[in-house]
Amino acid sequence: MNTIEASDYQDIIDALLSFIDKAVVPVEREHAEFLSDEYNVFDARGLMTQKYKDINRRVRELSAAAGYYSLYGAESLGGGDLPASGIIQVQEALHHKYGPERSLVHESVIPSPFTNGLSPLLLKLNDEVLAPRLEKIQSGTSTLCFALSEPDAGSDVYNLKSKATPDGDGWVINGQKQWISNAAHAAHAFVFAITDPEAVKNRAGGITCFFVDTSDEGFSVDAGIPIMGHRGSNATIISLTDLKVTRDQIVGEEGQGLNLAMGGISRGRLTMSATCIGLARWALDQSVSYANTRKTFGKVIGQHQMIQAKLAEMATRIYLCKSAVARTATMVDAGLPSVKETSMVKMACTEMVNWVMDEAIQIHGGMGLTNELGLEAGYRFARTLRIPDGTSEIQRRTVAKRLLAGDTTL
Ligand SMILES: Cc1cc2nc3c(=O)[nH]c(=O)nc-3n(C[C@H](O)[C@H](O)[C@H](O)COP(=O)(O)OP(=O)(O)OC[C@H]3O[C@@H](n4cnc5c(N)ncnc54)[C@H](O)[C@@H]3O)c2cc1C
Repeated sequence: MNTIEASDYQDIIDALLSFIDKAVVPVEREHAEFLSDEYNVFDARGLMTQKYKDINRRVRELSAAAGYYSLYGAESLGGGDLPASGIIQVQEALHHKYGPERSLVHESVIPSPFTNGLSPLLLKLNDEVLAPRLEKIQSGTSTLCFALSEPDAGSDVYNLKSKATPDGDGWVINGQKQWISNAAHAAHAFVFAITDPEAVKNRAGGITCFFVDTSDEGFSVDAGIPIMGHRGSNATIISLTDLKVTRDQIVGEEGQGLNLAMGGISRGRLTMSATCIGLARWALDQSVSYANTRKTFGKVIGQHQMIQAKLAEMATRIYLCKSAVARTATMVDAGLPSVKETSMVKMACTEMVNWVMDEAIQIHGGMGLTNELGLEAGYRFARTLRIPDGTSEIQRRTVAKRLLAGDTTL
């Protein structure tokens, strides 16, 4: 083990991995047959079935009881307050050890650091709305989703159509949301809607974030979206029909929802980058092991220079990305501006893991195309990561805008 891995966070990581092996892997084993068939996991609308939701809830509650579920959350909300430098190491370790396919581990042990669980957005919520719900959010009994994107508003968030129309002391929201992760499980949602059309037209605010209960009349999850060879997914389509909201439900300030969203998405981008490092290392480990055992032309394939070159290039790209993620996390923890750097690492890490998965499959020959070793699932999962939390093109756009505005520090 190198000295950087044996860091301040190694004890937390060791304990977390040991908890997963002892408490979560047995749940997976118990339901292995059920989980292996997507017809059990997703219903005809592509939404997660009740039994699958129940299994996930059990894992969340086990994780919360052991003190891991809220590891990334703010201390004032009852979380573990892990800084960005710790989060990236935990995230890498989870994906390095468990690979791409462990849905219970990846979806339920620790939620996304921004869109679910003890999201920092909760710090901007009225106490009277939050207090009665907080304990259930901390304990994993209730989960959240983040409903910003729409059919016509993904990269271009100012093209939002969901509108909050004034109604008495509050508003009624009408619109449709698309791609919303976790909405099928969620008890609460951060819903973004236009409150000031003129400001939106000028691309200068005018979008407000509201905290709603998904059981409220007017909030419905219509379908799960089949993604990359799956029958459904965690991403959903939501309808908002005369959904009533009050001023107390505003998160942050009226008209300032997009600033909140972008701050959080940056956090998500860094965490996703660390996920990519873990996944790429998982694929490299498998490739090294295969290169040391598979024989062709009378020797193990690791003795062929072309395979050696692939392994060396994979390790080099992973190492460079890992170093950049660590440096960016240090900047985040120091409170330094890091929008450009976070975009650079999201772009680089998601593209790196796509390339590494492809090379790993190539090293495994025909075996790489089967899912015996999980590489085929890894390849598909890696491909999805270049789109959410800002596409690779949008990351390049952000970096270029910062450079052209004079921020050329590197
Ligand atoms: C699995 C998954 C989970 C998601 N979870 C959530 C969630 O929980 N909550 C949520 O709100 N959203 C979520 N999203 C939505 C995600 O943020 C959007 O899909 C993403 O921002 C891209 O938007 P789009 O799909 O509409 O593509 P578009 O914006 O239509 O882009 C289409 C293509 O055009 C390119 N493009 C767009 N604008 C430019 C430009 N200015 N310059 C150059 N190229 C450009 C894009 O890079 C892309 O290649 C999720 C998406 C996925 C796939």
